[in-house]
Amino acid sequence: MSRYWSPIVSRLRPYVAGEQPRIPGLVKLNTNENPYGPSPKALGAIRKVADDRLRLYPDPAATQLREAIAARFGLTAEEVFVGNGSDEVLAHAFQALLNHDLPLLYPDVSYSFYPTYSLLYGIGAIEIPVDDKFRIRLSDYDRPCGAIIIPNPNAPTGIGLPLAGIEALLAAHPDAVVVIDEAYVDFGGESAVPLISRYPNLLVIQTLSKSRSFAGLRVGFALGHRDLIEALVRVKDSFNSYPLDRLAQVAATAAIKDEAWLETSRRKIIASRESLVRELESLDFEVLPSQANFVFARHESRSGASLQLALRERRVLVRHFAKPRISEFLRISIGTDEECALLVSTIREILAV
Ligand SMILES: *Cc1c(COP(=O)(O)O)cnc(C)c1O
Repeated sequence: MSRYWSPIVSRLRPYVAGEQPRIPGLVKLNTNENPYGPSPKALGAIRKVADDRLRLYPDPAATQLREAIAARFGLTAEEVFVGNGSDEVLAHAFQALLNHDLPLLYPDVSYSFYPTYSLLYGIGAIEIPVDDKFRIRLSDYDRPCGAIIIPNPNAPTGIGLPLAGIEALLAAHPDAVVVIDEAYVDFGGESAVPLISRYPNLLVIQTLSKSRSFAGLRVGFALGHRDLIEALVRVKDSFNSYPLDRLAQVAATAAIKDEAWLETSRRKIIASRESLVRELESLDFEVLPSQANFVFARHESRSGASLQLALRERRVLVRHFAKPRISEFLRISIGTDEECALLVSTIREILAV
């Protein structure tokens, strides 16, 4: 606290990111990074532009990248917004589209950046409880609201919603923007992108951080009706004209075009996830049904906090949230098969089974 701060600063509740420690030999399964690395074509594209041209500002509209994303999803470039990670895209969406007189709705067990942005922008929000199996019950969103944001699949549960449910939600709220945060959709979820042409109130947000293994590049994007995109552009151009640097723009463009790389890496991760789920269940974990590149699991007798600590002492990092309803769970990112095997053998050692 300092007397120099603007008054709002002391009231903020900043998001706490998963740790990035420098411990040699660490098995890092705590921040949902992709173990397989980005497309080699995208890395080659970075090398090709890493030269004297970096003295020039990048294209403020990231036109090539937006065109590549539009082509990939069957949209026009006017229906695409890009930002410095989907966290930035989400932040702009909160400010540009989710701040109304009526409250914003989102699940109580969900991405913890949502309450952070709500406080930052002074948005009145209501958290809608997920059910006792940690599923989002869409009928609970049937109430007056200014806007809705839901991750699909949800984080940190990994549970997905069917497209028909999302469509019913959009149809029931024609006067409210509905944002679907699809950070994990490539690992088995159903994307809402095909609904964009029929629902001008739908904004879909995706990221290159997870399925395209580019968390270090910081590129995310939003897809939706051009009026929604224009609102995001107006906020962006009142904040930072150049959120994506030259290297990020060319690398992201190449990554979006490398469909084969995406396909291979997501298949491997889904297969590893399915076998990890079976292993964890055999060790008396309850594992929520995951459509993401992580699983959310609790042990029958050992507490989430104690397991996370015991794993950390053995150089295996997983995420634990000391929050109501989910404090017994661990969120475990899907690593390579070797990393998953190391996780399982370390858990066996801790449980002495
Ligand atoms: C990881 C994640 C994001 C943000 O990813 P960026 O790296 O900022 O693109 C957004 N939403 C959810 C639900 C996430 O888990």
